Amino acid sequence: MFLSKYFLPIVKNTPKDAQVVSHRLMIRSGMIKQDAAGIYSWLPLGLKVLKKISSIIIEEQDNSGAHEMLMPTIQSADLWKESGRYDDYGLEMLRIKDRHERDILFGPTNEEMITDIFRANVKSYRSLPLNLYQIQWKFRDEIRPRFGIMRGREFLMKDGYSFDVDKEKSFEAYNKMFISYLKIFNKLGLTAIPMQADTGPIGGDKSHEFIILAETGESKVFCDKKWKNLDINIEKISYDENLQKIVDKYTSLYAATDEKHDPSLINKNDLLETRGIEVGHIFHFGTKYSEAMGAKVVLPDGNLKPVFMGSYGIGVSRLVGAIIESSHDEAGIKWPKEVSPFDVAVVNLSVGNEKCDNIANKIYNTLKSSGKDVLYDDTNESAGSKLASMDLIGIPYQVIVGSRLAKEDKYEIKNRLTGEINIVSFEQLLEFVV
Ligand code: ATP
Ligand code: MG
Repeated sequence: MFLSKYFLPIVKNTPKDAQVVSHRLMIRSGMIKQDAAGIYSWLPLGLKVLKKISSIIIEEQDNSGAHEMLMPTIQSADLWKESGRYDDYGLEMLRIKDRHERDILFGPTNEEMITDIFRANVKSYRSLPLNLYQIQWKFRDEIRPRFGIMRGREFLMKDGYSFDVDKEKSFEAYNKMFISYLKIFNKLGLTAIPMQADTGPIGGDKSHEFIILAETGESKVFCDKKWKNLDINIEKISYDENLQKIVDKYTSLYAATDEKHDPSLINKNDLLETRGIEVGHIFHFGTKYSEAMGAKVVLPDGNLKPVFMGSYGIGVSRLVGAIIESSHDEAGIKWPKEVSPFDVAVVNLSVGNEKCDNIANKIYNTLKSSGKDVLYDDTNESAGSKLASMDLIGIPYQVIVGSRLAKEDKYEIKNRLTGEINIVSFEQLLEFVV
């Protein structure tokens, strides 16, 4: 991609209303634009990151045996009246009337709709277990939208729902998602701590929030200090193992959200009291919705029973902010490779200098043909401003071509994550950009 042809509206001034660093950096690097309180457009650079995060989530959810689908953002109020939540949900639900004066709403979550899909299609225990998920926009009319996309009103969520024949099987489904979530956050380069949590308006008997420790986080959390240096080592775990044992291992170290914290359960000297960002939340609620809405299956003994359910959320758009909160410096964002909007940037500091143009073009073409997604700064901005913009947008590798080194057929490769700079010849390109 040639920067001269790309839409990357870099903002020079720090936006005044942005209180946290991720919000400031997302605005400045042209990733998002605010349209109304808590409502944002995702500009090309931001959308690329959102899609990368989504594809990591999809890959890992599919590995766990879940199936992706897509439900509408607009729902009929009738389903919510059946579950009893139409009145309970309160002012966070955006309620709309259509032209026929029918009550509809912009979905804040989808337990009712998925239960309706299930009851219309699944009749027997033979179709279970079943786990369906989607990545779809949600709307919650938050009282205080803030921190940019981290607490938006419209936000992107991965929401999944499990269906099982009995409580034991549905705990197995819960454990699978517990492990899948640890794998996802690990792939995103984050350490998310599973903490005992309150179930809130979703309801149910068992729940964990996945929290990234950060001073700017909205949630007050309590955990064992050992979590800070724990190597989660989750990649190798297979979904076919006895997951209860593994989940027990992770939950044996104390970690609880504010609502669930019980000081009697942890030694004062081991306790870390800090703040965090909730990036995921899983719930086991059994038959709460299936009973209210008549989602039943025939069991092997011929009896008809409400199906056991759980639901599993990840804040996809919030994750973009959470990753920036945990990976940045004064100059800008430092994207982990897995989610960076581009793999590598080529910066030609002397556009029009024949030698520089030749080297930069050759590097650009070589990287592209080796499968890299490359952003090529071919603009006429000053060298200082080009380098500052590159540090701001945070692509992990910068290949910098300048007239002085170009005379010797050399150029610089800067690793944005480590800050390391190497002066290299053309042959060494792919050694450094991996
Ligand atoms: P919170 O406590 O932050 O309000 P929640 O518990 O109401 O979140 P869930 O219903 O558990 O949210 O939703 C699943 C995930 O969606 C959350 O873990 C969070 O990452 C994300 N999320 C929830 N509300 C928002 C929001 N207003 N903006 C961005 N992401 C959100
Ligand atoms: Mg939650």
